[in-house]
Amino acid sequence: MNKIDDKLQPILAEVVSRNAGEPEFHQAVQEVLESLGRVVAKHPHYLEAALIERICEPERQIIFRIPWVDDAGNVQINRGFRVQFNSALGPYKGGLRFHPSVNVGIIKFLGFEQTFKNALTGMPIGGGKGGSDFDPKGRSDAEIMRFCQSLMTELHRHLGEYTDVPAGDIGVGGREIGYMFGQYKRLTNRYEAGILTGKGLSYGGSQARTEATGYGNTYFVQAMLETKGTSFDGKRVVVSGSGNVAIYSIEKVQEFGGKVVACSDSSGYVIDENGIDLALLQEIKEVRRERISEYALRRGEGVQFIANGSIWDVPCDVAMPSATQNELSGKDAHTLIKNGVIAVGEGANMPSTPEAVRIFQDAGVLFAPGKAANAGGVATSALEMQQNASRDSWSFDQTETRLAAIMRGIHDRCYETADEYGAPGDYVLGANVAGFVRVAEAMRALGVV
Ligand code: NDP
Repeated sequence: MNKIDDKLQPILAEVVSRNAGEPEFHQAVQEVLESLGRVVAKHPHYLEAALIERICEPERQIIFRIPWVDDAGNVQINRGFRVQFNSALGPYKGGLRFHPSVNVGIIKFLGFEQTFKNALTGMPIGGGKGGSDFDPKGRSDAEIMRFCQSLMTELHRHLGEYTDVPAGDIGVGGREIGYMFGQYKRLTNRYEAGILTGKGLSYGGSQARTEATGYGNTYFVQAMLETKGTSFDGKRVVVSGSGNVAIYSIEKVQEFGGKVVACSDSSGYVIDENGIDLALLQEIKEVRRERISEYALRRGEGVQFIANGSIWDVPCDVAMPSATQNELSGKDAHTLIKNGVIAVGEGANMPSTPEAVRIFQDAGVLFAPGKAANAGGVATSALEMQQNASRDSWSFDQTETRLAAIMRGIHDRCYETADEYGAPGDYVLGANVAGFVRVAEAMRALGVV
């Protein structure tokens, strides 16, 4: 990986000292700055007017109390966050995450990544992210609803189709978006479909939004494989996680002829040499909301559940980390390479540690960073906004065709940018530079704001 250019070092030092105790945010900024040395060497004007410093500082950070009453009648308090990172290209856009690990540093890292990801799509959307340290596991439907309503009671004043448009992320799917949209509508007495994306099809959602992130990552990896004259057909694939991104990655990989032999949740992973039975996985995860061990129990003989250990020990040709940040370490990268991996597509945000990324790249493994490979979700959210604004709804095929073209465009932009800046095949550099240049150009035009 590139070392940070001397001119950019002070910017990182300032970010680290101003955002103490936020290691994920430092990691995300460092990774982008490592790619920008070649850009400022070619275009020194990007060093003017504290442009890069401004890109590293969120425009606005909102932190709020979320009180709610559980089924036993006790008052619970969670903390809510919305980081409105950058609106140079459009309204803030990015998901809400419900997970006990959520804090302001994690939301900032996600918002920063989101800004470049959204720029890469070529669509008019800025970057933002939010969420809460609420843990949805084991909560009843009624508790989830009361929590979502309380969150929206505060958040609604910060949203708007021209201001900020959240969506789902870890722990936030169709059910939660529905409860939040219902509360927004009630509070404002306005049916503003364009204030949230990932909505259900019965009230303004888009076809293919649920599938978009997983499908998009698969399209991106397929495009990478094509540059080497190969494809998913006949490949062994490991997908971590078993949530939204993982499930629809598995579906598309299977459609492209690959065999997914393992997936996971935070309690462990399963190996199924016959290929994951998607219908069973969906029933367990999406309908019954059970643990992954249940998959092994129900699928029966020959399927193993492993509670302790790393899913990356399972040999595969293609790895698609789709659970959470820093889930794939340097040691895991070495194991995958030893076992013959040829491509990695990040469905999750920043799932590979910086060391793992370096190891993959040094070994010549095709490596697709999340901010490019998982951009299909937000791109389809932008298509949902388009449909809401024109009071229209498109068919599944029409929407998926747009998604496939957008992913091809993102792949080609990353590939060509890496070439242009003298780093052929380096999708990390390509994604960071192409995303940065689009945001930076808009910010220069808008003056010091
Ligand atoms: P879901 O909540 O649907 O699924 C998350 C999955 O990851 C679950 O299987 C969960 O297991 C597992 N997981 C979460 N945290 C951990 C952890 N600390 N250790 C191990 N496993 C964990 O989320 P999504 O599928 O929506 O999101 C997955 C990733 O993709 C995230 O990084 C997200 O930011 C990113 N992403 C999502 C997009 C979307 O459209 N949904 C768009 C772009 C990126 P368990 O149930 O046991 O917690």
